[in-house]
Amino acid sequence: MILVSACLLGQNCKYNGGNNNNPKLQKLFKQEEIIPVCPEKLGGLAIPRPPAEIKGGRGEDVLRGQAKVVNKLGADITQEFIKGAQKTLKIAKQNDCKLAILKARSPSCGSQKIYDGSFVGEKKKGQGITAALLAQEGIKIINEEELNKLEE
Ligand code: SF4
Repeated sequence: MILVSACLLGQNCKYNGGNNNNPKLQKLFKQEEIIPVCPEKLGGLAIPRPPAEIKGGRGEDVLRGQAKVVNKLGADITQEFIKGAQKTLKIAKQNDCKLAILKARSPSCGSQKIYDGSFVGEKKKGQGITAALLAQEGIKIINEEELNKLEE
């Protein structure tokens, strides 16, 4: 079974109420192989919601209590992000997922680069919180951009 960011499957769970539908996912995998998850929704955040970024570190730092997640209005929503990551990991374990295909650059799902906390579009190397937690548990993560390259 493959864990997939729900927004990549067309679910309207993005911060702005939209999605990042990637039709290649449905072409490459059978529906019954895919487990859709949105960590931010699982963490109790609303749709739509203000955009959020990790301040002072990366996903693994947030899990260690050494960085936080803030939204564009300045609210600390670290606990919601951690809760969403933990619920996502539970779903992955329940379904014996060894692979996750996650949305690039998200503070939850990003697996190579994430936005740097300045809310001006700058990125830094690192994983989002859910991606970091899944990786710590041995789940292989690729983002949808790597998936697109694989198919070429
Ligand atoms: S990137 Fe992850 S947390 Fe953000 S909307 Fe998509 S599935 Fe949800």
